[in-house]
Amino acid sequence: VRIRVCPTALEPQEVEVESSEGGRTYTVTTPTMLGNDAVCDEECKGYMFRGKCRHIQEAIDRAVCFWGGSEGETNCPSCGREAVEIIVPD
Ligand SMILES: [Zn+2]
Ligand SMILES: [Zn+2]
Repeated sequence: VRIRVCPTALEPQEVEVESSEGGRTYTVTTPTMLGNDAVCDEECKGYMFRGKCRHIQEAIDRAVCFWGGSEGETNCPSCGREAVEIIVPD
């Protein structure tokens, strides 16, 4: 099955997320459908100790669309980027 997806689901995005206390930002790399893991900033203690943190969730909410459309749809309706066609095994 061919589907069209937003490129943000396929390419890791670097997103700056502010810390809850303010004053600094963490750089988060978003995960992808292709198996890239989410990575938070090396300065983030939550990520270092637990392997997860709220920055990652916030970055995903902000930067990844999780949109999938059918053939003929050329752009992601959420962010307007050109859709990428992928083939999903049945
Ligand atoms: Zn973090
Ligand atoms: Zn999009």
